[in-house]
Amino acid sequence: MSDFAGLRALVTGGASGIGRATADLLAARGAQVAVLDLDPSAVDKPLLAYRADVTDDTSVRTAVAQAAEALGGLDVLVNNAGIGARGTVEDNDDEEWRRVFDVNVLGMVRAARAALPHLRRSRHAAIVNTCSIAATAGLPQRALYSATKGAVYSLTLAMAADHVREGIRVNCVNPGTVDTPWVGRLLDAAPDPAAERAALEARQPTGRLVSPAEVAGAIAYLAGPLSGATTGTALAVDGGMQGL
Ligand code: NAD
Repeated sequence: MSDFAGLRALVTGGASGIGRATADLLAARGAQVAVLDLDPSAVDKPLLAYRADVTDDTSVRTAVAQAAEALGGLDVLVNNAGIGARGTVEDNDDEEWRRVFDVNVLGMVRAARAALPHLRRSRHAAIVNTCSIAATAGLPQRALYSATKGAVYSLTLAMAADHVREGIRVNCVNPGTVDTPWVGRLLDAAPDPAAERAALEARQPTGRLVSPAEVAGAIAYLAGPLSGATTGTALAVDGGMQGL
């Protein structure tokens, strides 16, 4: 498929997991793709790689400007960089709440602010935010993380309303448990990683974790021309977890 031919995409957190799978898929479908990440050293051609920290506005602005210059503009922003957090409201102090909100919410705001002037010049402009089922599922031990993703969901709806008349669509994906290096790190921290993985898989209605490629497919749909009439939506990619 070459439905992204002529389109230019920027993927934040694109060096690993869902972001890397998305960058690879968009490139395979004909897009020119740049990745923005804290550590883009493992990113190779044909992807362009820019080192930036989404908590640092100057570094985001610089990386987005460099990517737009190298690609000759921007059509798609995949706002994907994010970090996890465990615990109830009693387990994380104010500093930790600010730190995780800074990455997961303000990080997306900063990248959007830097990308919007370029997206306005595109004839096919789309932003896709990586949200989570945590935004609406009421997961235990995930108060802080869920609150950040609830904010991403609200942000997606508000941005969709703000920018629809400029021809910029804004949607999000809500993944369930995805088999990325992040989840691998959590499993490795357990006393028996293999047993922990088996238990996690058994909790999924499908009996397996979601693959990064499956989330990338949903992001590509929302970023691409076939979703041209879709804005302000959340697409679940959760193996049936939603609604259980
Ligand atoms: P990952 O850890 O494999 O990849 C995240 C990438 O983001 C890394 O390359 C990391 O370097 C980058 N990153 C982190 N902080 C950054 C910062 N401050 N500035 C720039 N880059 C930064 O994680 P993943 O599982 O692929 O998660 C990607 C997104 O998907 C996150 O927003 C996460 O909340 C969301 N998500 C993941 C799951 C899951 O089960 N893995 C489920 C739902 C949602």
